[in-house]
Amino acid sequence: MQPAAVQISGRLPVVSEYGKGTVTIMNQEPVTSLKGIGEKTAALFRKIGVETVEDLIHNYPRAYDAYEEPVPVGKLTEGGIFAVSGQLVKAASVKRFNHMQLILAAMKDLTGILQLAWYNLPYLAATLQPGKILVFRGRVARKNGRLVMEQPEVFAREAYEAVMGSMQPVYGQTKGLGNKVITKAVAQALDQGEMVREYLPEALREKYQLAEYNYAIRHIHFPENRTELLFARKRLVFDEFFFFVLSVRRLKEQHQDAASPYVMKEMPQVAELVSRLPYRLTGAQKKVLSEVQKDLGSGLVMNRLIQGDVGSGKTIVAVLALVQTALNGCQGALMVPTEVLARQHYESITRLAEDYGLDVRTVLVTGSMTAKEKRLAYEQIADHQADIIVGTHALIQEKIRYDRLALVITDEQHRFGVGQRQALGEKGCGAHVLVMSATPIPRTLAIILYGDLDISVIDEMPADRLPVKNCVVPTSYRDKAYQFIEKEVQAGRQAYVICPMVEASELIQAENVLDYTKVLRQRLPEEISVEYLHGKMKPKEKNRIMERFAAGEIQVLVSTTVVEVGVNVPNATVMMIENAERFGLAQLHQLRGRVGRGRHQSYCIMVNAAGQEAQERLDILNRSNDGFYIASEDLKLRGPGDFFGLRQSGDLEFKLADIFTDAGILKQVSQEVDRLLQEDPDFGAQEHRLLGKRLLEYLGKSSGTLNL
Ligand code: ADP
Ligand code: MG
Repeated sequence: MQPAAVQISGRLPVVSEYGKGTVTIMNQEPVTSLKGIGEKTAALFRKIGVETVEDLIHNYPRAYDAYEEPVPVGKLTEGGIFAVSGQLVKAASVKRFNHMQLILAAMKDLTGILQLAWYNLPYLAATLQPGKILVFRGRVARKNGRLVMEQPEVFAREAYEAVMGSMQPVYGQTKGLGNKVITKAVAQALDQGEMVREYLPEALREKYQLAEYNYAIRHIHFPENRTELLFARKRLVFDEFFFFVLSVRRLKEQHQDAASPYVMKEMPQVAELVSRLPYRLTGAQKKVLSEVQKDLGSGLVMNRLIQGDVGSGKTIVAVLALVQTALNGCQGALMVPTEVLARQHYESITRLAEDYGLDVRTVLVTGSMTAKEKRLAYEQIADHQADIIVGTHALIQEKIRYDRLALVITDEQHRFGVGQRQALGEKGCGAHVLVMSATPIPRTLAIILYGDLDISVIDEMPADRLPVKNCVVPTSYRDKAYQFIEKEVQAGRQAYVICPMVEASELIQAENVLDYTKVLRQRLPEEISVEYLHGKMKPKEKNRIMERFAAGEIQVLVSTTVVEVGVNVPNATVMMIENAERFGLAQLHQLRGRVGRGRHQSYCIMVNAAGQEAQERLDILNRSNDGFYIASEDLKLRGPGDFFGLRQSGDLEFKLADIFTDAGILKQVSQEVDRLLQEDPDFGAQEHRLLGKRLLEYLGKSSGTLNL
């Protein structure tokens, strides 16, 4: 069925004929059901998380390209993306070096000449006839003092005019699966797809001026203009929040005042351990620990969130709670989002138990362990030879039987969905639940988003901590930065260098881990060991590198953001971030949190390759080390509704919604959910039926697989 064209005359369609279809079931056909998509392409789609037509439709663009009017060559500035229109001045020259083929050309208009360069696009040379008038669109860089447009798209003039003014979706891509293929597949899916029946009550849509569902889905992919895009997005953000808040409220009902069979005593060994730690707990840590201990002894199931900025010392509070659990004859589990982090927590808990002579046995469970290793770990868990279990989400996915699972902790909660958290909670009947997060969410929002949890805040940094010293520098500063790293390494310290990419890409101009490592090895003295780490490496390999870095065998670690979450190597004092302009502020703050974790003065060097454009934003980080302040300043700078920039939080399980910029919608949703649950908690009213159905679908999708 071809969707009816929507007439937009003045007002955008809040309610329309568009969504009167009768179908509520989503299209679960594999993407191969689309024309032109075979097994090979399907495998590539799988890499970006798309298996079914339904997934494809919900794989929203990351950004939009606005094809703007061509600019005179004289007006071009470095770093920006522009279109220019003009005549090719001479035949293109083709060069080869390092397995790469380079095509060089130049174009001119009345205001000047612009160099053009393409890598590995041999078929282009034939198109580039001298004298031809063409439109080129791409990013402008400066090479040897001259402006060069790199890898521009080439259009005949009429072709460019046809797309001018429109917004083209830009999707997350993978090698071999480019934007064009994805865009075409989405268009096909939308055209052949059947309508989903609108499930939000009409009155609600009228009240908040929310687009009709099918309209919103279509226009999030293919908006004609910014107004349409914002309109579509608002509806989908509303939905994301709506079902999230609904499921949080349901969780709350389930746990409220539930009795727990695990009533734990405060053990003297825990107090003794606290007194023997190499540092004194901060007042905030003590306060939070006592809140946790009170919950554990209360006879009711604990559901608590510990919020604390990076480096505030959340781990030790969690570990003390786990130790107390173990000493009470129960099991405790710690679930973390990455294998690197799991291993690190496992090792530090094991070491702690050894150092302080605690009779507590810890096991590790991760996806990359061999079948035999897993079997052994499972046996130890089932026989209660293990008291503390540390792992990734393998803890819920794998067939693990616990003996007396009384406490479940998830670290860096923002990486797990509500469903996963619930699934782990359900593994232990009546188990206490503690979640830890570094996302600096204002209290009013936290109460909505974590409505099912009591909240404890660690709002104090360890006293011996020197604040990280920051600088934002242009790329020309690199030499100095390397000298600085060398000096720190010679003083016994270590450094991280972060690059946004794993390997060189034709399309994206940004530093990559593999090439950067080679460069650094050359630039730094031979005795300094430089290694790299990225998400595409095998887990075993990653672990080995991380362990060697933690042990001080590697001095400089060149890495993607895989080190972003939770990694703790207190001896590392330098965090150098290449292409800092490409990261969100929250992410930069997390990255910076990897240093300044020990006694030594630490430094964060943010290399800004985009110039003035990014400076103001990065200056916020330069000024402050406080996550809350950074989040609020970022919001001011961007203004609500401005989501074209980098996402601030990129967390929880929202695809589109941003808890900061969309805070207003979140609050509306919260009120509406309250009203709905009061008036019609069973979704019995005619206008709520479909909503109820949709909620069940949502819950089905968001909860992890259970093996009880
Ligand atoms: P986060 O809150 O980011 O998870 P961690 O718990 O990893 O932070 O703690 C960061 C570092 O601070 C660790 O090396 C830890 O041993 C240390 N630490 C924790 N609490 C204190 C404290 N009260 N005084 C000094 N150092 C502490
Ligand atoms: Mg942590």
